[in-house]
Amino acid sequence: MSRPFGSGRKAPAERFWAKVHKGESCWLWTGATNPAGYGMFSKGGREGAILAHRFAWIITHGEEPALHVLHKCDIPACVNPLHLFLGTDLDNQRDAIAKGRHGTAILQGPAYAQYLQLMQELKS
Ligand SMILES: [Zn+2]
Repeated sequence: MSRPFGSGRKAPAERFWAKVHKGESCWLWTGATNPAGYGMFSKGGREGAILAHRFAWIITHGEEPALHVLHKCDIPACVNPLHLFLGTDLDNQRDAIAKGRHGTAILQGPAYAQYLQLMQELKS
């Protein structure tokens, strides 16, 4: 079996945490994100990409949840397992409405401003 990349031997979890910036509160995903700001992690092979925070939940709890993985902190790129909780579709929608981002990808608030600043620093 051949692997296209030299780093392909590393376990997905190891590659995953290597792309996480562990702050005092939020642990921010520094890899690729989707247009809504959620981290995307490629497990490699044919499995494609998965939401980074969902993957964080899976490797922390050892199982794939049937429900949505939602954020307590409302930072889409955060993958801190302590900030994640499971919810239904309805919870997901209620959560989005309560946080004022239903149907939009508009992100705001001090935590998000902090996140943007951090990402700038990481990239510069
Ligand atoms: Zn967080």
